[in-house]
Amino acid sequence: MFQYIPERIIIDKAVVAEPLTEQICEHFSDIPSKVVENFSWHHDEFGTDPLRNPLTKGKKTLHLKYFKGKSIKACPGFSNELVCCNYFTLDLIENCPFECTYCILQAFLNKPVITIHANLEEILEQVGRLTSAQPGTLFRVGTGEHSDSLALDHILGIKAHVIRYFAKLPNALLELKTKSKHVDHLLDLPHGGKTVISWSVNPEIIVEQEEHKTARLTERLEAARMASEAGYKVAFHFDPMINYPDWEKGYQNLVDQILGSVPPDRIAWISLGALRYISSLKAVVDERFPNSNIFLGEFVPGKDGKMRYLRKIRQRMFRNVQQRIKKLAPRIPTYLCMENSTIWEKTMAYQPQNARVLEDKLVTSLPERFPVEA
Ligand code: SF4
Repeated sequence: MFQYIPERIIIDKAVVAEPLTEQICEHFSDIPSKVVENFSWHHDEFGTDPLRNPLTKGKKTLHLKYFKGKSIKACPGFSNELVCCNYFTLDLIENCPFECTYCILQAFLNKPVITIHANLEEILEQVGRLTSAQPGTLFRVGTGEHSDSLALDHILGIKAHVIRYFAKLPNALLELKTKSKHVDHLLDLPHGGKTVISWSVNPEIIVEQEEHKTARLTERLEAARMASEAGYKVAFHFDPMINYPDWEKGYQNLVDQILGSVPPDRIAWISLGALRYISSLKAVVDERFPNSNIFLGEFVPGKDGKMRYLRKIRQRMFRNVQQRIKKLAPRIPTYLCMENSTIWEKTMAYQPQNARVLEDKLVTSLPERFPVEA
């Protein structure tokens, strides 16, 4: 795996005195930094011309930002057309040092730098207010919506604060979703059973071809083993599943490799999702990754505007993995990500009517399976 070293650090004046800013600047004490009044520094330097905004170069800038907005939100995957899992996302970082060819952020973020929301304490207070206002709800909160949760954390040291904070919340569960191997710095933390570390996984051939700069599959599974031995719940996301020539065998083996690495009773859940993309992504990928095979195959537009494999292909892919998990580890809850009820009916053993029902199924399985820590 590669080592990330920024070329410069841009700091919003409003976060100069934040403990997280001091922590990050101390770590990168030999990297040039500049304090700015507001966001106009980016527009002044790059304008809106994408040719002056190269994504690879942009990632070399770390921007420590004062985040003003609502940091915890319902997952944007929610829609009436799709069966969702009632998830919340917590915005802490935007953009990612990894280079997955299919990454939607390439077509989505309006600036190519890596942005850290440095007013962390304020952001966590928002989480505390939301969760304490609904004490009867268990909030599942993920930080991997606009970045990989752990890709840079061994050098930025953000998640230790977040894990400690969630350990004290009675009705919230934190999920850190990653394709990295960096868990050493988290192993001794007092997580209180309130953090799930989860890995997005694909067969090794897809990791090599399409998930550049990420940890190899064996490294991810080794990290998952270490995390589970440290008492963390772990989870896996077969997402995005790719329809490549040997996919059937590849994904079956992947299930076996996971269950050979981590005891099934430490796995909180497994989700399945097939490749989906917005059409503007294709031109970016063709330009940045001309050798990618990601768009091979037949795609159809969904009601949410995203392109997906044909329904019968998705059904076969999901059934293939679902049946293998059911055979080898029937107690692990599985769910589909961003799919409609027809696909659920054709592939899964149960069909939740809505997000709340699915959420209940995932959440109620925890105290049954993790009686001491749930
Ligand atoms: S790990 Fe996630 S956020 Fe990072 S490049 Fe890959 S898909 Fe994008």
